[in-house]
Amino acid sequence: MKAITPVNERGNFSRRHFLSTASAAVAALWFTPGRLFAEGESPVIGFRKAAATAKITIQKLRGNISLLEGSGGNITVLTGRDGKLLVDAGITASRARITEALDSLSADPVRHLVNTHWHFDHTDGNEWLHSLGAEITAHENTRKHLSVATRVDDWNFTFPPSPKGALPAKVFKKDHKLHVNGTKLVLEHYGPSHTDSDISVRFTEADILQTGDTWWNGHFPFIDYSTGGSINGTIGAAEVNIAKVAEKTIVVPGHGPIGGKSQLIEFRDMLITIRERVAALKEQGKSLDEVVASKPTADYDARWGSFFINGRTFTGLVYAGV
Ligand SMILES: [Zn+2]
Repeated sequence: MKAITPVNERGNFSRRHFLSTASAAVAALWFTPGRLFAEGESPVIGFRKAAATAKITIQKLRGNISLLEGSGGNITVLTGRDGKLLVDAGITASRARITEALDSLSADPVRHLVNTHWHFDHTDGNEWLHSLGAEITAHENTRKHLSVATRVDDWNFTFPPSPKGALPAKVFKKDHKLHVNGTKLVLEHYGPSHTDSDISVRFTEADILQTGDTWWNGHFPFIDYSTGGSINGTIGAAEVNIAKVAEKTIVVPGHGPIGGKSQLIEFRDMLITIRERVAALKEQGKSLDEVVASKPTADYDARWGSFFINGRTFTGLVYAGV
């Protein structure tokens, strides 16, 4: 996954460069033994800075569905006569480049937005997309967390209440269906997993499943204990995702490239193995520092630890929940 792209002529960092270097530095800073972050810049600030110059790439998936990658979490776009439907909103600093990408897909106005969960890298763009006419649909806990000041301890950051226009107008508890542009979309709550607000979005006819941050393809995931996430819930959601897909299903993760069933299984197995190792060490009475020092993720770090969450941070996230 690690790709080095040179700083461009204007001195801006490309997204990949940021992800492979700057955020690795943030992640390294972010973890000091005994706590998950160090004093200094919150990773939220780093992500927002990167989004201001990030390049947005477009990948056609199936039918009238495309993937926009580069601003926070993955964004899918369904085009058609009912107007565009977006799943996730990216980061506001990328508005100009997201607009350019949307315009290149079709002339349809944006009319619908679904949030996979409440995190800023999936909802930051809610306000401007709503101002264009998008009705926002999400799990009720997404609205709850966006409505009030919400702190994520591990990010050392408190998000202020979102402006009214950014709040989902349509919320649900368990599941919800939408019919847009000849497509049936099925939205289903996972239960507490990465947060307590995560939903999957299935584009039924195209056989595409978007998992939000219950799946990071090729990366250790963040787990937000501040708003109901846990390692056990994350493993539970990984099992749900495997059960939801067939061999031909295109699966869109919250972060990383698209994949399918075999990558979901690989991710689930990685979570279970590291959970077992960390739990065994904690049961022996080892402190977090001691568990981190024993490097329970060592054989996974090269493959999974080069993005936002490195092996040390992930060990801390697992330790907190076993
Ligand atoms: Zn998230």
